[in-house]
Amino acid sequence: MQGFIFDIKRYAVNDGPGIRTTVFFKGCSLRCRWCHNPESQSPKHETMTVKRKLGDNIFDDIQQVGYTIESGQLVEQIARDEVFFDESGGGVTFSGGEPIMQPEFLLECLRGCKQRNIQTCVDTAGAVDTPLMDKIIALTDIFLFDVKTMNSETFAEYVGTGFDMVMRNLAKVAENASRVIIRIPVIPGVNDDEDSIDQIISVLLQYPRVREVSLLPFHRTGFDKYRRLGRNWQMGDAHNLTQEDLQPLNNKFAAAGFQLFST
Ligand code: SF4
Repeated sequence: MQGFIFDIKRYAVNDGPGIRTTVFFKGCSLRCRWCHNPESQSPKHETMTVKRKLGDNIFDDIQQVGYTIESGQLVEQIARDEVFFDESGGGVTFSGGEPIMQPEFLLECLRGCKQRNIQTCVDTAGAVDTPLMDKIIALTDIFLFDVKTMNSETFAEYVGTGFDMVMRNLAKVAENASRVIIRIPVIPGVNDDEDSIDQIISVLLQYPRVREVSLLPFHRTGFDKYRRLGRNWQMGDAHNLTQEDLQPLNNKFAAAGFQLFST
């Protein structure tokens, strides 16, 4: 079966435990204003400008974003790094975009990796309704589940539609998955205040098997990609956050009994 992806990153160290190969699926149901991979959002081919150098000349060229790949071929590529996975406790991470937007293809890839004993991780924002969710959960060793806000109005304003679906999938994953790490992008003016974090903590406390979180500071690294895609950056002059800025929020999670995971 064929799927649609836009990148494969080898030796990744921020997409789950150990050394990982991260596969970026193309297509996402959400439109987070701060998304630093805007080229991941459309489920179609698109183009970006890219600077190229020829001799002393630098010029704008057109780069295609997105390509199809067979699941078997993808698993073969992933398996090339098995030795690094084994030594580091790593594996493959299916990310995006939203990998669960291609549920049949994702399932085939998960099956292929499990047959080779490759540790599997799915990085999801949970805004997808699929009858295959139970099967995906069964073949996934680790979920990186993105939580942006527990306020439905804030979600609608900054993230998109599907808040209730995210909550349902969060409950399903939290209750059934082998291991879940909650990833929270901390965004100035959206969820970087203590009340927003308290709201997230109180929801997560309902799920006793979910006690690992990772807070990710907002950064402007996606800024240039919007220009290269011919789109507008929607975060205005929001400033980068540092790990130091997140310390009070990390402390809140630690005080509530959560383990801080760095990923
Ligand atoms: S869920 Fe992730 S990929 Fe999708 S728009 Fe938000 S940040 Fe971008």
